[in-house]
Amino acid sequence: MLKEDKKWENVKIGTKAVWSAETELFYEGATQTPIVQNVTFGFSDIDTWYDVALEKKEGYIYSRNTNPTLHVFEEKMRILDGAEAATSFATGMAAISNTLFTLLSPNERVVSVKDTYGGTSKIFMEFLPRFNVDVKLCDTTDFEAIEREINKGCKVVYLETPTNPTLKILDLKRLITTAHNNGAIVVVDNTFATPYNQMPIELGADLVLYSATKFLGGHADAMGGVVCGKKDLVKQIYHYREINGATLGPMSAFLLIRGLKTLELRIQRHNDNASELAHYLQKHPKVEKVFYPGLESHHNHEIAKKQMRGFGGVLSFSLKGGYEAAVNVLPNLKFSRMAAHLGSVDTICGIPKVASHVETTPEERALLGIPESLIRCSVGIENIEDIIADFEQALSKI
Ligand SMILES: *Cc1c(COP(=O)(O)O)cnc(C)c1O
Repeated sequence: MLKEDKKWENVKIGTKAVWSAETELFYEGATQTPIVQNVTFGFSDIDTWYDVALEKKEGYIYSRNTNPTLHVFEEKMRILDGAEAATSFATGMAAISNTLFTLLSPNERVVSVKDTYGGTSKIFMEFLPRFNVDVKLCDTTDFEAIEREINKGCKVVYLETPTNPTLKILDLKRLITTAHNNGAIVVVDNTFATPYNQMPIELGADLVLYSATKFLGGHADAMGGVVCGKKDLVKQIYHYREINGATLGPMSAFLLIRGLKTLELRIQRHNDNASELAHYLQKHPKVEKVFYPGLESHHNHEIAKKQMRGFGGVLSFSLKGGYEAAVNVLPNLKFSRMAAHLGSVDTICGIPKVASHVETTPEERALLGIPESLIRCSVGIENIEDIIADFEQALSKI
């Protein structure tokens, strides 16, 4: 354990979200993290500059490498995830691509699942094969098949749970154990859960990564990504990123820090609201099926209960009236945006067929278990009575 971490050992997550990396005062006694909006950091003598460049002394040199505002965001996430180290990125996809390109070389193998985030699955299917990386994507619900592929040998096991848009659940402990028995590095995309709902590092993951653009920032006003985990691995990924250049901007880092302070409050409310809406929709005569890991009808509800504190703010549901019905419901919602996003304080709905899965064929969507009428809903932190009343009136119009 790092010396700094002793201080946080018995501190709860809401307190960590507010105070971690910010207990000391900043320049001139500033209590809040300043936005250090400058490119470079000067030195008064060459010896100090040389020592910082050789990493013999701590310090900042150039903002493509790191910057004091980014450092606070990274340190907050490191503490929230219980990790040894963390490094940040301009977007979630930058975190994912930099991690995969750091860890994988030609003729190495990665095992993952078919339901990863759309951009991630593009990296698996389009980019990595160009560099002769062997990519095996398994059926997300078939743990035995995933384990068989891991047992054949691989450098990296890449997991994501819950998944988009049908909220499938992977058994983290089981798959991490199998991966480690085979000497593989385990990476978990924890974007949907956040460290409030799920702690992959406690379950043994080597690296956990996020699109900070979603629930971590939480207000749909800043993009970012972060990777937390084992020090030696994070150091390699940081090195790739500082050269590759997908660096987080100081203004975005500030907005993400500000969002993180309310993480516990927001996620508790997202969890409660999504759970209530899921139960309401499940009983609605026009709804065909609701996908939410907090429902007892979810096929991996027991695993979700074991590894998650809450079930998150995202759910999806299909309508009996097919795609036409879905197209007619969304414009009638008064308190929901039709947009490609999730994890914000405002409720947002979209149809995977026209959004995340627009490039797939109906047959491919069927294979992934995505009905044509599926609506994905990221439930905000509004008052749930208003959200349910809004869905009631919109559903009554179809
Ligand atoms: C949005 C998202 C990403 C990509 O993040 P960006 O910040 O948009 O680049 C990756 N994984 C998951 C699960 C996401 O929802």
